[in-house]
Amino acid sequence: MSLFVHKYGGTSMGSIERIQNVARRVAKWHAAGHKVVVVPSAMSGETNRLLGLAHELSNQPDGRELDMLSATGEQASSALLAMALQALGVPARSYTGWQVPVKTDSSYTRARIRSIDQAKIRADLDMGKVVVVTGFQGVDDELNITTLGRGGSDTSAVAIAAVLEATECLIYTDVDGVYTTDPRIVSSARRLKVLSFEEMLEMASLGSKVLQIRAVEFAGKYQVPVRVLSSLTEPDIALQDEMASGTLITFEEDHKMESAIVSGIAFSRDEAKMTLLAVPDTPGVAYSILGPVAAANIDVDMIVQNQSVEGMTDFSFTVNRNDAERTYELLKTQVAPAVGAGDVVADDHVCKVSIVGIGMRSHVGVASLMFRTLSEENINIQMISTSEIKTSVVINDKYMELAVRALHKAFELDQEYNQAVGQAIEKSVNNSTNN
Ligand code: ADP
Ligand code: ASP
Ligand code: MG
Repeated sequence: MSLFVHKYGGTSMGSIERIQNVARRVAKWHAAGHKVVVVPSAMSGETNRLLGLAHELSNQPDGRELDMLSATGEQASSALLAMALQALGVPARSYTGWQVPVKTDSSYTRARIRSIDQAKIRADLDMGKVVVVTGFQGVDDELNITTLGRGGSDTSAVAIAAVLEATECLIYTDVDGVYTTDPRIVSSARRLKVLSFEEMLEMASLGSKVLQIRAVEFAGKYQVPVRVLSSLTEPDIALQDEMASGTLITFEEDHKMESAIVSGIAFSRDEAKMTLLAVPDTPGVAYSILGPVAAANIDVDMIVQNQSVEGMTDFSFTVNRNDAERTYELLKTQVAPAVGAGDVVADDHVCKVSIVGIGMRSHVGVASLMFRTLSEENINIQMISTSEIKTSVVINDKYMELAVRALHKAFELDQEYNQAVGQAIEKSVNNSTNN
């Protein structure tokens, strides 16, 4: 008998029929003698609906009230799931974040989990109950309801699995695992049976919304085995088959010995590029530009400072698209006058496309195959950033899908890895290095 945490996303909870299917699936695990904690998201569309209502009232609704509002989506779906389980004769009980409690800091709309009290959950599990805990939410020290950011139910589930030392945290969703890239963009994308934790971390942080980045961070910190799998299969399929399905995020790198150089492609439209023109190129200029940006709590991603000509340079960086307006105002009204720069240009028609793979560590020239592929499609690269296991480029967002498809093909991600394909890519990588 083992303890499992199941997380079901919005689509999986999207209708009464789907909730009944979730209940049947959970009942199967329970009947096999396992302890099960279920973490549901709100029914699909519900969080957007609630946030939409708030934005009808105000352009910048108060964070506390937003969380008070959006947390209700998960309260409703959790109660419905508990009822669906009870209707099947399975003893079940639901809890909101504050009832558990899941304690967080007070950063409304993007709170971080600090601790989870397991007493109530344990007691119910020991009585043979299935415990349903709302995803996405918690409570701060002053008993204000907080939420964990969009997609935050993933993080709730992994954090609960960590505290309970669950055998596995199963993330049930509307795809049957983690793919080489978003299967909605590239139909030939392939499911990965295993993916290393580091690669998943990069994929999530570079825009693959299949798992929230903080969920992956938690999994890494507490070594929680996480599996991403489909909630849309028949609920009654054999437990053994279900347990072996989907994508396992692994902490072992052994399987990588014979796997692809690039494992996946991530992309994100949540980008905006800011450029300060004609900045006097003096020591401390990066600090005088980015210091005020950091002080305003705006995250900066990529940074490029051009070669200076006659003591003047252009300085560009990217921020999250949600922060674009705020950043532009700050640069225009405060930073540019203070550093004696010329104009400020904001471009929110950019996106970031990244290739990710542990195999990049041991192969040179992977990035150049990426650049060659983009140049063959006539796509101009505006910014580049690299780390050991990823290369990202910023390009015009109208080319995003084209870039992702071309790269998916160039790295032959649609094909099961085999020696021959691997060698073909290595050859092409080597050729492009020699060019
Ligand atoms: P849920 O509501 O279950 O949390 P999400 O919409 O948050 O589901 O995440 C699942 C979606 O993530 C898929 O439908 C898919 O379009 C998208 N996605 C993006 N990148 C990937 C990827 N590499 N592999 C699988 N799915 C991906
Ligand atoms: N319901 C929340 C959202 O839509 C949390 C989640 O689904 O993970 O972002
Ligand atoms: Mg999600």
